[in-house]
Amino acid sequence: MTAFWFAALAVLLCGPVPALLARARWTWQVPRAALVLWQSIALAAVLATLGAGLSSLTLLVTEQPGLPFLARHGLAQTTLIGLGSAFVAVVTVRFWIVAVLVAVRTRRRRRRHRDLVDLLHHDDAAPAVDRALLGEAGARVLRVLTGPARVAYCVPGVGGNRVVISDAVLRELSSQEVGAVLAHEQAHLRARHDLVLEAFTVLHAAFPRVVSSRAALDTVRLLVEMLADDAARRRTGSLPLARALVHLASAPGEGAGGQGELRVGADALTRVRRLADERCRGEDRRPPHRRLALAAYAVALGVLGVPTLAIAVPWLTASWRSLAG
Ligand SMILES: [Zn+2]
Repeated sequence: MTAFWFAALAVLLCGPVPALLARARWTWQVPRAALVLWQSIALAAVLATLGAGLSSLTLLVTEQPGLPFLARHGLAQTTLIGLGSAFVAVVTVRFWIVAVLVAVRTRRRRRRHRDLVDLLHHDDAAPAVDRALLGEAGARVLRVLTGPARVAYCVPGVGGNRVVISDAVLRELSSQEVGAVLAHEQAHLRARHDLVLEAFTVLHAAFPRVVSSRAALDTVRLLVEMLADDAARRRTGSLPLARALVHLASAPGEGAGGQGELRVGADALTRVRRLADERCRGEDRRPPHRRLALAAYAVALGVLGVPTLAIAVPWLTASWRSLAG
């Protein structure tokens, strides 16, 4: 029965739960807690899948294999156990191969991108930028590109972070709006939002159709943007950030960063509406929605903790006793 409960939990956490959570709008009010909940669900889904396979396998280890096993469990159950174990083995191998490929390709792409923006950087084009907004490494991090495209994005990585902004943006936005853009990008880099996105990119690349991985990736991407928006509005207020978002979203060069991640203009309309809502509530300066966040954290803990206590611990204890006996 343990394998059945693990499998049922895995199906639930891979399909209906992410699909429902992706449609929820309350998550926009507490993006940090919602991200923790998403990560907890993803981790629980992976663990439940592994648990389903391993609990089937433990039967083979703890009981006498071969004909006695077949006689005890019957042909149907033995076939199910074999198929379940094989399925989990395939899923696990596929997941890790994709994880390594995504990690290598992402880092290679970012390294090339970093080299490119270092080469194209025009320091003279940004005399008025307040680099203090980018933290201690501000002067080393900022790269200004010349040309008609209006872009603002960051390129994270251990080889050196970069915040890229075009001189068109610097010319057309006020210093407060540029400050909001830089604070937004700095928040991405400081909180390593790229790692959160990478985990969900791996899940989506490994299982593009079987589970709700596309909805999960899109939602997590939006929540990460909202989190960076919150950091930016705490420094500059909502209005300059909203203006900058509208400008970048309507710009012809938007998205020219080519990364498809962590750029300011993504999902701009949704984010501007959210900023307007938060501003109406007068919550620019104080932490909002504390109870909702606490509830989300509690659910995140429950998603991991309840199956561990109710299914995993009894199974591990019983398996240990069988092996010891
Ligand atoms: Zn962003």
